[in-house]
Amino acid sequence: MKAITSKLPQVGTTIFTVMSALAREHGAINLSQGFPNFDCDSQLKDLVSYYMKKGYNQYPPMIGVEKLRKQIAKKVNTAYGSTVDPMTDITVVAGATQGLFCAMGAFISPGDEVIIIEPAYDSYRPSVEVFGGIPIIYECSAPDYRINWEDFGKLISPKTRLILVNTPHNPTGKCFKREDWKALESLVAGTEILLLSDEVYEHLVFDEEQHQSILGFPELYQRSLAVYSFGKTFHTTGWKVGYIIGPELLMKEFRKVHQFNVFTVHSPTQYALADYLEEASHYEGLANFFQEKRDYFLEQLAHAPFTPIPSEGTYFQLAQYGHLSQENDAEYAKKLTRKYGVAVIPVSAFYSNKRDDKVVRFCFAKTKDLLKQAGERLREVGGSR
Ligand code: PMP
Ligand code: GLN
Repeated sequence: MKAITSKLPQVGTTIFTVMSALAREHGAINLSQGFPNFDCDSQLKDLVSYYMKKGYNQYPPMIGVEKLRKQIAKKVNTAYGSTVDPMTDITVVAGATQGLFCAMGAFISPGDEVIIIEPAYDSYRPSVEVFGGIPIIYECSAPDYRINWEDFGKLISPKTRLILVNTPHNPTGKCFKREDWKALESLVAGTEILLLSDEVYEHLVFDEEQHQSILGFPELYQRSLAVYSFGKTFHTTGWKVGYIIGPELLMKEFRKVHQFNVFTVHSPTQYALADYLEEASHYEGLANFFQEKRDYFLEQLAHAPFTPIPSEGTYFQLAQYGHLSQENDAEYAKKLTRKYGVAVIPVSAFYSNKRDDKVVRFCFAKTKDLLKQAGERLREVGGSR
């Protein structure tokens, strides 16, 4: 065959893979792709190997190990005041990306409109398109990335099938407030629109604020699926295990797709996570842990010429550089990697139209010594404040 019609003609290799490869090539400190440079708890690793050695090595249930689903239900119902049922409302997934993809597969038909708020995590748009959905983009811009819900409402049409939201938000670090959910609630009231809420950074909300989950809004929950990732919560991004939560009516449809996509998820890891979740302290201290890193990284940045944009959550920090250079952010990110030895993500990668506000994203899920070293290198960057 000489040529093939691509279903995703605009898609190349994800920016996270590209920048991590460039970081390796140039021996740069990798603050680009979002993952910790420190290991997970050895107790968790011991539990996985315990269950592996004990012979928990065959297919677990399609919807996930029962004890794990029960632990998840207990955790979210305590945190968000929800009444999630572990039998009907939770499915264990092979990472949030797979959960999002199957949810879209279950609910998007060709010609359906799906509203995406950009900047957005890079898997959303291609996942919509692969199922024949039409992405409708609501664009937020630097430095405040505010959503004007009145303007947002104008994008809703009789063809709107799904709205995708993400809080805490990658890459901006913005977090939904109660008023945001309430505004969305009145926009979708009386419609058949579904919501897909990406809450993988649920535990990373700073400055004494609480994560506002869609699970805490019963009117919204009845039309929603919410997705989570143990990769983010337990510093195990390489394990690709997460969960998706939604009411029975929607979860039934989700499971129809999930069972023919992966069927189920790595068995010993599920048993290990079920035990590990018994101890709430394993995730309750996360916000403080990462807030300290955010603040430490900001101290380092204070001596560099960038203008940071406040991060309310996630493990990402945005910074503006437009006063230093007129280069587009993709070029500038490469320059920081090659010339100054710190790899970052250009925020244009999170926009369909590659909007360039001259902002780059740093991941601060790193040890203090690495953040300090990165700070020293970033101080060398030319330009003035
Ligand atoms: N959603 C967002 C907003 C993310 O930043 C990420 C990256 N971890 C994911 C989903 C994917 O999570 P996972 O690795 O569990 O697939
Ligand atoms: N979520 C991570 C980030 O935003 C990367 C995930 C990936 O590499 N696909 O950096």
